Amino acid sequence: MKVLSVCSEMFPLIKTGGLADMTGALPAALAGQGVDMRVLLPAYRGVALSLESCTELAALDLPLGRAGLRHCRMQGIDIFLLDAPALYDRPGGPYLDAAGQEHPDNWKRFALLAQAAAAIACGALPGWVPDVVHAHDWQAGLCAACLRAQDSETPVIQTIHNVAFAGRFPAAIFPELGLPEGFFGIDGVEFYGDVSFLKAGLAFSDLVTTVSPTYAEELTRPAMGGGFDGLLRARGADLVGILNGIDSGEWNPETDPLITRQYTASRLGQRQVNRNSLYTAFALEDGRPLVAMVSRLTDQKGVDLVFDAAGDILGRGFNLIILGAGDEAHETRALAVGSAHPGRAGVHVGYDEALAHRIQAGTDALLVPSRFEPCGLTQMCALRYGALPIVAPTGGLVDSVIDASPVALAQNVATGLHLREVSATGILFALDRLTAILANPPCHQQMIRNAMKTDVSLDRTAAEYAALYSRFHQSEPRVRALA
Ligand code: ADP
Repeated sequence: MKVLSVCSEMFPLIKTGGLADMTGALPAALAGQGVDMRVLLPAYRGVALSLESCTELAALDLPLGRAGLRHCRMQGIDIFLLDAPALYDRPGGPYLDAAGQEHPDNWKRFALLAQAAAAIACGALPGWVPDVVHAHDWQAGLCAACLRAQDSETPVIQTIHNVAFAGRFPAAIFPELGLPEGFFGIDGVEFYGDVSFLKAGLAFSDLVTTVSPTYAEELTRPAMGGGFDGLLRARGADLVGILNGIDSGEWNPETDPLITRQYTASRLGQRQVNRNSLYTAFALEDGRPLVAMVSRLTDQKGVDLVFDAAGDILGRGFNLIILGAGDEAHETRALAVGSAHPGRAGVHVGYDEALAHRIQAGTDALLVPSRFEPCGLTQMCALRYGALPIVAPTGGLVDSVIDASPVALAQNVATGLHLREVSATGILFALDRLTAILANPPCHQQMIRNAMKTDVSLDRTAAEYAALYSRFHQSEPRVRALA
């Protein structure tokens, strides 16, 4: 079966968050399930440089203009790069310019991506026509609308990674999209008088998936659905939550070349070496337990709660390490925590993949106090590395971490802690519970072993997606009648 994955980022080529981790790892994981997944990605500046091979494939005449398509390979994955230098070959990131402002033509950049996906699905590459299009987030949200505009019945799966990003633009752009007039309506791309690319994906796709079962349920509530809750409730069983996973080859404490000392669940003593090396790197006092945070520094992640609690976290005897980048105000506060507590708090502001691995391999616990969290990958990395995750009880955090309740402890299944309250006080209360666990080494070691054997691999996710794709494949020709 052939699946075209349409996305705006893909690890390791270009990444701003967990979306890239999933789109980067899914093709290889699906290959083992007999799915030929190829990826369509904009040819951002510099992206082609890191690819093994690149050949010109086609020139596409799309409603928004002419664009080139290159075929490239990376570690066995086939990638189609959409080449439109005026839109993609520029400084900055995929969504923001070098000054941190949204690219003013983002609507056009990602509408073109969807138009190219529709062209491929309609046969622009005669040697490879996908059976299913898998569109990720608002940036690929117009795929289904573009296909339906051409009367194509190629099934489209729209995945929501984070409903907070709706891809919302003024209604004035609608005529430029080349879609039928009737598509601008309550059942189409219209969203409170504007255009929303995500809304288009939710309205026109055959199936909507999201990245955890709990987030799927949360999305149908007015408080958490980002304005799409009504539509998602109406779609009923068409909304499916599939828990994401991580690349268990990249994240493997047994073989990880980025950490100081490799270890397994049966050689946990070696883990200590990694903590010591962090203490040396950050000049922190030896002999204390460590809690850490590896996160985008945004309100969503609840990082302000950790800053509020920092003094009391240290007061309870823990050292604290923070690795993150994001909003300027949060970065400033993070740095202030570091400079206020030399020897006890280490802070690195920036994006540093290697340091993230070293922290996961050395910390006793990882704080993830998110206000909402569609799936969250960082707590899965923590599980795999035996760093006990302390998580807010929301979204994928609930689905991946088993709270150390008396029942779970008695059954030897606990893998971390759920915050009773998402607040600074809630974090401190959880750390008091952690202190009790640390004081009971057999219980602590059992939790670490439970965490490390949790199946967080993307193979499980891939198997669920393969099953979904084949539902469409087998129900041809009336693929769109799926309930
Ligand atoms: P999101 O996609 O919302 O940012 P996730 O937890 O799903 O959050 O995925 C983020 C990924 O990026 C995780 O693997 C996390 O460890 C990693 N990460 C976040 N911030 C940093 C950073 N400053 N340096 C290195 N890795 C980071």
